Amino acid sequence: MTTTATATTTINHFLNGEETAGKGDRTQQVFNPATGAVSGELRLANREDLETAVAAARKAANVWNDISLAKRTAVLFKFRELVAAHVDELAALITAEHGKVLSDAKGEIGRGLEVVEFACGIPQLLKGDYSDQASTGIDVFSFRQPLGVVAGITPFNFPVMVPLWMAPMAIATGNAFILKPSERDPSASILLAKLWKQAGLPDGVFQVLHGDKETVDGLLTHPDIDGISFVGSTPIAKYVHETATAHGKRVQALGGAKNHAIILPDADLDNAADHLAAAAFGSAGERCMAISVAVAVGEAADELVKKVQQRAEAVKVANGTEADAEMGPVITPASKSRIVKIVSEAADAGAALVVDGRDLVVEGHEDGFWVGPTVIDHVRTEMSAYSEEIFGPVLAVVRVADLDEGIKLINANPYGNGTAIFTSSGAAARKFQRSVTVGMIGVNVPIPVPVAYHSFGGWKSSLFGDKHIYGEEGVSFYTRGKVVTSRWPEPTHASGASYNFPSN
Ligand code: NAD
Repeated sequence: MTTTATATTTINHFLNGEETAGKGDRTQQVFNPATGAVSGELRLANREDLETAVAAARKAANVWNDISLAKRTAVLFKFRELVAAHVDELAALITAEHGKVLSDAKGEIGRGLEVVEFACGIPQLLKGDYSDQASTGIDVFSFRQPLGVVAGITPFNFPVMVPLWMAPMAIATGNAFILKPSERDPSASILLAKLWKQAGLPDGVFQVLHGDKETVDGLLTHPDIDGISFVGSTPIAKYVHETATAHGKRVQALGGAKNHAIILPDADLDNAADHLAAAAFGSAGERCMAISVAVAVGEAADELVKKVQQRAEAVKVANGTEADAEMGPVITPASKSRIVKIVSEAADAGAALVVDGRDLVVEGHEDGFWVGPTVIDHVRTEMSAYSEEIFGPVLAVVRVADLDEGIKLINANPYGNGTAIFTSSGAAARKFQRSVTVGMIGVNVPIPVPVAYHSFGGWKSSLFGDKHIYGEEGVSFYTRGKVVTSRWPEPTHASGASYNFPSN
């Protein structure tokens, strides 16, 4: 199969109910990572575009907040049906710009849809509390209202799922939402905007504003934006949290990860190896919940490494559009160079390269950004393969003597997004789940992304801010509480009571 040149399209903003080129004169190229070809020219917002978006959002928020829960819910149900009906189209856009295989792209849309479905239950979620006769003649009730205008800034690795972690919750709770998607794979967000409009969402409630640091900084400091949801790498998450909170906004900023899976000798090693390979190499390792460190305990190590090696060597790496592809390319040439450098540093420092994907060439796609599945054994904590978030198809194996040493290793790591244990011992699993300083834990489950009615969030450098994303914490993040204390004195009896039959 030969690489074919793709036509270049211009990718616009979606502001106040329509696609628009905006006023900015800067653009950025978008690539197809499997072919290396430029596929699009993305328009980047300038200050005027930002002001247009914020003004439209403010106006829309005032209208949307007043619309009944019944009508809001009807829009969410309709949006759910439209996204489900456009899965193929959305997945094709994801694969073309991100590179992940089509089945995986559909998987991320499915996980995003779960949040839309959860948001469809918003009338139940927003029910307040009522205390009758809290004091004599006094009732107290509490309810929640939207923040107003919120912005979501999202990473390249889930161009549909991560925006859907945020927007349905923000919109269901009555806010207007401005999405600033990743510059690398921005097209799916425009289709999402069109589907929201088709679902009956008023103009300005969901907008897409493309841009880079300049636009992000504008959002973080704009006085008319009330909240920021961010998902991306740790240094930017920290910066976003500090900048936006200094500007008086409510902020949740989810950062990077270095997810460890610990494998005890009593685990089913075939099962563990299957899951480890899928969790390390699926989506080319570009998942915030990818397993990038296998912590092999005691005698499990040699056999486990052999089994993972077999699986890594069998992964079908190809253009994500091919039916049997299991893994696609990485996102940019810069990403490929960084991954290759880290793997080389580990080899130079004495780690064992069990499977080496650095020189992978995919026939017919020689200009694509490929790195093959890579397994590095005997990794030590001082190596960059351990200390850095690689965000590529690389599994580092660290050997430890026992469960306690494994837990100590995980807890000393600055990240705390996800972790997993493979074991057949309930007692070991329980000790693990109670001891690790990590937000999301899998027991014989490698990528424990919580379902939509539980919330998603890591600990330590994987989350800045105290609210996790989606679930009930999402409702809480996008709303503010009000408590009303009320007394309605009974009318005093007027003199001259009448014995007539009472009437209105
Ligand atoms: P990134 O931090 O480079 O970019 C994320 C967003 O921030 C993008 O919209 C980008 O335009 C913007 N941005 C980038 N540099 C900026 C700067 N200097 N100032 C202001 N804004 C800036 O992340 P990425 O490479 O797109 O995504 C991969 C990262 O995201 C990984 O670290 C991954 O672990 C993380 N991630 C975390 C989660 C989670 O739930 N914790 C989920 C998905 C991805």
